[in-house]
Amino acid sequence: MMSTSRGGTAAIVPAAGRGERLGPGAPKALRSIGGIPILVHAVRSLVSSGRIGLVVVAAPPNGVDGVRELLCEFGESVHVVPGGDTRQRSVALALDAIPETYEIILVHDAARALTPPSLVTAVIDAVATGSDAVIPVLPVADTIKAVDSSGTTVTATVDRSTLRAVQTPQGFRRSLLIKAHAAATAMDTTDDAGLVERLGLPVTVIPGHTEAFKVTTPFDLLLAEAVWSERDKAAEPHA
Ligand code: C5P
Repeated sequence: MMSTSRGGTAAIVPAAGRGERLGPGAPKALRSIGGIPILVHAVRSLVSSGRIGLVVVAAPPNGVDGVRELLCEFGESVHVVPGGDTRQRSVALALDAIPETYEIILVHDAARALTPPSLVTAVIDAVATGSDAVIPVLPVADTIKAVDSSGTTVTATVDRSTLRAVQTPQGFRRSLLIKAHAAATAMDTTDDAGLVERLGLPVTVIPGHTEAFKVTTPFDLLLAEAVWSERDKAAEPHA
């Protein structure tokens, strides 16, 4: 699986967050779906695409050895580095650890545990065929309203038809991702495409996938268990 040939694809998985919205317990990436840690699911999604030569995982700085052990099934195709105090910093630290030979870089949240490998492939193909920054998106189902700073009164109803919910993996031409992180003046972006937008450069959207949802709340964990058990059933050989 390890490939260092020019033009290959590497992936960054920021997994250094505490995931406090899931409630008390282990860090989010170490919670399980179907008995398998969320982080292992996420890395399997990337590796199963068959298109990734190297995955660099940013782990909580005090948990690097544990995360390495957790990911030992992947051998040399997965490296683990200490993450930073924000998601953006964790991505930047992982980016530093990727050899120059990789020309396409994906950034994939560990929390999007059940992302289908076909979505990973679609993002890589979109970058390979000429879009330097690519994000998977879904239309927004709910009506979205803006509220005032106190959060108690509606100030506007936003035109839903122009809004999209953004997923990962996000894909970038390596040189652009490095430039975008180098130019970042604040450490607060919630996705890497946001840094590209700040450079005034285009970001291309492709269709996302409902199963690439982010496991953030206890409800998401229930949903993930249901999706995983359906997949398990579908994979069982029929009698
Ligand atoms: O908190 P949120 O869900 O937006 O985090 C998105 C991703 O960024 C998660 O996979 C989390 O582990 C990661 N993260 C990180 N380093 C931090 C904070 C979050 O790698 N300091």
